[in-house]
Amino acid sequence: MNIKHQETVSDVARKCAQFGFVASYDGNVSLRAEEGIYITATRTLKAHATPDDVCLISLDGKLLEGKRPASTESLMHLYLYQARPDVKGIVHTHPPATTAFAVARKALDLAVFPEVILDIGPVPLADYATPSTDEVPRSLAPFVQWANAILLANHGVVVLGGDVYEALYRTEKLEHAAKTLIYAQTLGGIVPLTKHEVDYLYETHKEFERRGMFADFQEKETCKCETEKLVCKTCDEKSDLDFIKQTAEKILKRL
Ligand SMILES: [Zn+2]
Repeated sequence: MNIKHQETVSDVARKCAQFGFVASYDGNVSLRAEEGIYITATRTLKAHATPDDVCLISLDGKLLEGKRPASTESLMHLYLYQARPDVKGIVHTHPPATTAFAVARKALDLAVFPEVILDIGPVPLADYATPSTDEVPRSLAPFVQWANAILLANHGVVVLGGDVYEALYRTEKLEHAAKTLIYAQTLGGIVPLTKHEVDYLYETHKEFERRGMFADFQEKETCKCETEKLVCKTCDEKSDLDFIKQTAEKILKRL
């Protein structure tokens, strides 16, 4: 085993506990290296994780090195690495606000925060699956090709990254966004960005890859002026004016 990779995985595991994303043994962290997958071992107390709590497994799940067996969620990690060659790090945690969305069975797929849109994209909700079984990879299958983070119903979230620190900081960003959305909901509701605003955001930040589709853009019909809204404000006002004009004309004719 490479001690640097063991140190990295245990450092990220400790940060997951420090940031309040997990309690006690919850969650698991992994990174992909040439020699295999470095992953937290089963029953690792994340707050006190050390390099000894990390083991090395092959991409088909064999324990290559390590003092204890790999996390019971290694099936999920292996499935994601197999499906996504671009992914080099995975963090699975139970952050309270993000997990609240997973419990309420609400995807985090509205286009609200520019940074979240660019860095993570829409976060879909996978069907409930019994933890540590092959139901979990199957529940992720509809989203695996494009999502950078997936909510696990009544469980938590799994976040992918080009390296394991990116997966950690995406988790942090998502949890921050989830808290703010809950606050906004108590103040009268969330106002998402329009499709035009999101298109312009990607145009001005071409370094970010566009992944998935935000929910509020999927079923929306376009207004006759071809904006993203069903009836945009300008057309709405214009149609009001037309109506007033037509009514006035009718009244004038009768006089
Ligand atoms: Zn979990």
